[in-house]
Amino acid sequence: MLIVDTHNDALLELRDPRSGLTDETHHISIEKLRCGGVSMMTFAAFSSQPERYGSMLHMGAKGVDDFYALLDLHQDTLLQALCPQDVYRAQSAGRIAAMLSVEGGDVLEGDLHILHLWHRLGLRMFGLCWSRSNEICACCLEQKDFGLTDFGREVVLECDRLGIIIDLSHASDNTFWQTAELSAHGPCASHSCARALCPDQPRNLTDEMLTDLGCRGGYVGVNFCHNFLVGGGYPDDHLATIEDVVRHIEHMAEFAGVQSVGLGSDFDGISRVPVGLEDCSQFPAIADALLRRGWKEADVRGVMGENFLRYWSSVLHKAAR
Ligand SMILES: [Zn+2]
Repeated sequence: MLIVDTHNDALLELRDPRSGLTDETHHISIEKLRCGGVSMMTFAAFSSQPERYGSMLHMGAKGVDDFYALLDLHQDTLLQALCPQDVYRAQSAGRIAAMLSVEGGDVLEGDLHILHLWHRLGLRMFGLCWSRSNEICACCLEQKDFGLTDFGREVVLECDRLGIIIDLSHASDNTFWQTAELSAHGPCASHSCARALCPDQPRNLTDEMLTDLGCRGGYVGVNFCHNFLVGGGYPDDHLATIEDVVRHIEHMAEFAGVQSVGLGSDFDGISRVPVGLEDCSQFPAIADALLRRGWKEADVRGVMGENFLRYWSSVLHKAAR
């Protein structure tokens, strides 16, 4: 069974790229990926701490360099994923595909040329913003929801043309709706949950968003973050469990359709993980839990990875036309 995770922050956790994914205290390590039978991980270059790195572009560049350092260091294990076929190629070679994404469109610093360069470096998924609004769009955590800016509209159309997946996981509601309208591709939220089950969390998608995303052939990867899974009505000491992840998957499948749902763990970017999903070796437990609840095997395969690869193929197919 293919296992695809559409968001992690391992690059952020990487203190020393020369030691790579060998720290077993992290959610993600080569050994844990092997143990979990993982097919593809999406590594996000993070670009929203200018105070630490001088500029957004500088921090983003460090993320890309770290990503390539990982590919070099683990060249017997990792294989860069530039298209869905690379994931199948990696699987048949007993390797793990690695996709490069960006979390925080601040990295462009308002210049489309940087997007072109990033695409040449292998960028295949682009998060328009992280936790603050930028030159592209409003983020979901800020009061003023101005949606997409003029530059943001240019970015969306250019991502469409290049076949870069536009990630709306941190986008505001207006940004979501305006991008859904403008883009030729179905909306993607690589690591979000269902707002109806966790109403005080703007990072999660409303039922209307999920329905629209499903109708347009989009994709949503369930986030394993405790705060996105349980909230409102739960006592503070309530620990999220794998059952909560399954609850969100089932709710998202109800509104978006089972073909639009996948996994977006946010591993190594979240401090509290669900009981039963403590690290990336435990992805298969989700498939087991869905099967126990009577899910059809084909639908389980979809959620575990095939849905994302089909979505990615559709983005590339439309871009090529
Ligand atoms: Zn995120």
